[in-house]
Amino acid sequence: MVELDREAWNACLAYAEGLVAHETEAHRWIGAELEARGLPRIQVSPLEGKLLALLAALGGARRLLEVGTLGGYSGLWLVSLLPGDARLVTIEVDPAHAVLAREAFRRAGEEERIRLLEGDARELLPGLVGDADGPFDLVFLDADKRSYPEYLERSTELLRPGGLLLGDNAFWDGRVVDDPDPDEDTRGIREFNRRLAEDPRFQATIVPVRDGLAVGRFLGR
Ligand code: SAH
Ligand code: MG
Repeated sequence: MVELDREAWNACLAYAEGLVAHETEAHRWIGAELEARGLPRIQVSPLEGKLLALLAALGGARRLLEVGTLGGYSGLWLVSLLPGDARLVTIEVDPAHAVLAREAFRRAGEEERIRLLEGDARELLPGLVGDADGPFDLVFLDADKRSYPEYLERSTELLRPGGLLLGDNAFWDGRVVDDPDPDEDTRGIREFNRRLAEDPRFQATIVPVRDGLAVGRFLGR
């Protein structure tokens, strides 16, 4: 087998992206606005976004929950292959991020299907148990990493049996492997990955796309 160097690997990623992960006008607009507004450019990649879209579609998801909206980039991917009656609830704590996301959803013509909740997910998630938009077929975690273990536990109250729990940044830029002095976020991601792998209520894998996407199938309580 040929070992790919970084340059060849990046060429393969660009090749795959050119084939299967085309951004919409709204996706490109979000990318440009994140830069123009000096906001973090830590959205999922197009290839990861398309994977989110396919996982949602394959699972037949209609009720989706995202924790950590940023500019709405991943949210637009999540609903991109779903029928008109699908609904995404997405939670964002930073007002500047929420302003951008609202504008993005409007530009994409998605304000009907996407409901943005502003606030701290640690406070809002308990209130979503029994919400009219739930129980959820898919939960995508992408907010503060230190809270991932708590979000995993919340997800078991929010997901329907057979639903999907997705966790972004499972590799946390490599810090899950070799950080000798892990901070709260690194410890949070490590704990989340370990629990998802070992908890008998989940069947799990980690997809090595971009910064790692943890995928868990929730079997029920
Ligand atoms: N999912 C987005 C990227 C999210 S970045 C995408 O791929 O397009 C992480 C986001 O989580 C940031 O916008 C940050 O403000 C938000 N966040 C961090 N802690 C949070 C919390 N406790 N509750 C809600 N949102 C939070
Ligand atoms: Mg992320």
